Amino acid sequence: MTVPPETWQVGPARIARIVETGFDVPLATLLPTLPPDAAASGTATLSVHAWLVTWPDETGTRQVLVDAGIGNHKTRPSPAFDRLDTPWLARLEAAGATPSTITDVLITHLHPDHVGWLTRRVDGQWVPSFPGARVFLPRAGYEFFRSEIGQAHRNAGLLADSIEPVVATGQAVFVDASGRPDGGTLPPGFTYLPSPGHSVDHFSVRLDVADATVLFAGDVMHQPVQVAHPDHSSMFCADPLQATASRHAMLALAERSDALVCSSHFPGPSAGRVVAEGATYRWRDEPASPGPGWGGGTASQTGSAARSRTRKPSSIPSTSPDAPGARITVFDICRIITATCAARCGSSSGADRQSARAIRSRSPARISARTPD
Ligand SMILES: [Zn+2]
Repeated sequence: MTVPPETWQVGPARIARIVETGFDVPLATLLPTLPPDAAASGTATLSVHAWLVTWPDETGTRQVLVDAGIGNHKTRPSPAFDRLDTPWLARLEAAGATPSTITDVLITHLHPDHVGWLTRRVDGQWVPSFPGARVFLPRAGYEFFRSEIGQAHRNAGLLADSIEPVVATGQAVFVDASGRPDGGTLPPGFTYLPSPGHSVDHFSVRLDVADATVLFAGDVMHQPVQVAHPDHSSMFCADPLQATASRHAMLALAERSDALVCSSHFPGPSAGRVVAEGATYRWRDEPASPGPGWGGGTASQTGSAARSRTRKPSSIPSTSPDAPGARITVFDICRIITATCAARCGSSSGADRQSARAIRSRSPARISARTPD
């Protein structure tokens, strides 16, 4: 029997984490610019999951997926993502949804661990997994993979097996660079927040429900240590400096709005709050809501089960699973980023502080400008 997932109740909305898989990475590999003392804890566990929001409104019950995992049977260059066969759909059903009850899917960016379950293989064909859903897709990512450069990208295969089938059925609604859907409206309460840097098309998703804010961060962060050390981007980020600016903006928004932050890759429970601490922040896990989830079970039971599912030990592939561009850029900026963290988190030279000011003055404003609180 599939164990019900962990859930969080936010006003009338119920949020469930639908776990797919996970893998371990040396922390110093994942965050190559992290100071040695901060990286000393060794291994980072990355969870891969989607978030399901179930929300009754005047039109009935809306079921919104934020991101769609890796998917089964997809041929991928990364061993961690290649030809998986997981019971993710059964876990979705244990959360009270079926493929046909999903009304909307909001994709944060077109990477293979975020779009895979948009389709599944039936009789050798890739068909949409959620036949009644509108699928919101960042246009920039779609155009990238259709371009000559994108066609040569190591993850170009996701276009044919995960994206084009939902475009062909007319389910796709493209989101422009400002976060506006082209020819459709987002489900009530949801907003796309541009948070570029990790990829050419990256967004975070905000949900305002009752008096509360929920932030689905996407890949703005990969591990909780980045909350305390926000100047360090992951090895997967295409533009580490821009990703740093987006992370600062997201953390500031999360802290001042006391948002429930639902991360894409933090290990369980993967949801939490951002708390101000000195010149930076601290991550505080948010326990799942108490009581039985859909289909029974307790939060502690489901949390334990989810964590054990997530911990599939493996080492990081020699090529990163998610990297959209050349990794050399990470190392190019290693020195300046390390200087920035020293300026924020400890002592540093005058030159380091100058570097830090330069980085902090980059444009975190695209999130802030659209979110006045
Ligand atoms: Zn990801």
